[in-house]
Amino acid sequence: MNRIPYGRQDINQADIDAVIEVLRSDFLTQGPVVPAFESAIAEYCKAQHAVAVNSATSALHISCLALGVGKGDVVWTSPITFVATANCALYCGAKVDFVDIDPLTYNLSVEKLKEKLIEAKKIGKLPKIVIPVHLCGQPCDMAGIHALGQQFGFKIIEDASHAIGAKYKDEPIGNSRYSDITVFSFHPVKIITTGEGGMAVTNDETLAKQMRSLRSHGITNFPADMHPRPSDEIWNYQQIDLGFNYRMTELQAALGLGQIQRLDSFVEKRHQISQRYNNELSGLPIDIPWQHPDSYSAYHLYPIRVKNNKSAKTQRQVYEAMQAVKINVNLHYIPVYRQPFYETMGFKVGYCSSAEQYYKEALSVPMYPTLTDAEQSKIICALREMLV
Ligand SMILES: *Cc1c(COP(=O)(O)O)cnc(C)c1O
Repeated sequence: MNRIPYGRQDINQADIDAVIEVLRSDFLTQGPVVPAFESAIAEYCKAQHAVAVNSATSALHISCLALGVGKGDVVWTSPITFVATANCALYCGAKVDFVDIDPLTYNLSVEKLKEKLIEAKKIGKLPKIVIPVHLCGQPCDMAGIHALGQQFGFKIIEDASHAIGAKYKDEPIGNSRYSDITVFSFHPVKIITTGEGGMAVTNDETLAKQMRSLRSHGITNFPADMHPRPSDEIWNYQQIDLGFNYRMTELQAALGLGQIQRLDSFVEKRHQISQRYNNELSGLPIDIPWQHPDSYSAYHLYPIRVKNNKSAKTQRQVYEAMQAVKINVNLHYIPVYRQPFYETMGFKVGYCSSAEQYYKEALSVPMYPTLTDAEQSKIICALREMLV
């Protein structure tokens, strides 16, 4: 058997044909397929507007900018996330701070958030934005976070990079009922892919318009948005803001359009795989992912926790032993504030205790729709041998 990765894409012939069709068409970028993909995503997740970009990192950046994040502002997020969730605040000149995780869901803890908000209010340092991350595809307690947003006056960006296809209280993640903007990633390890790619969805027309402008240099060609100029001069477009080139290509969107048709079946397959892990790993001295009853996870990841007090093997030993038998397990994630770059900002070891505990125990085992029964058997047997 070849090495089993922890995640991988599922591309079929229809996906390939769709990309080739674009290659033969008139437009490789700024054509009709990106808007079609945006509509498909908006419809799927019941959002009013969808803005396609070249990565979730870009989507997070322009989401922060559209919500007015700048110098002097603070953005809060979970420490157990990919660094991009925090970096977007720094791109805007803002500061970033971290709220510890819930020990059961591994998502940002609403209790900890509330405590931290009360303290921050006393010293006048409330966050402008909070970015909850639907870790592993399991939705955060959005109703709780939204209620605190109303009380303390912060805006919310959902980092749903792991969670397209997930549901919260029976409604699709991305409907942004409890947030201002929701961001998706289409990197190949995520639930659906466009190679590289991302999307920001929102129900706020003004935010959508700003994000469309920011993804393409801050340029407009809508006459109504243009500044008055002499009528004998040629002004077919104007730059009215400082934006970026964060556009998605037509090739990427064509791939995405094919992928979204299979999204539900991908997530169902991930549920089947997680169900088998649940059944067959439950006797081992590890914790398996607990699911909140409000949540229908997209199961981007399936992290087991190697409990140092229960198991003879450490996280590191299991990691190395699995690598040695060609099974890629991985750690998602090192707390962001422990990264050397963040340490230079003054963050210290132990800042968020539940996050650090998670970091010392968690290992994501392979999880992707094309994982075969035989491969999963191999993974389960290897874990049993190591841990019993
Ligand atoms: C993958 C990921 C991102 C970044 O996505 P890109 O599309 O690679 O930029 C951001 N946040 C989280 C939680 C992620 O997993």
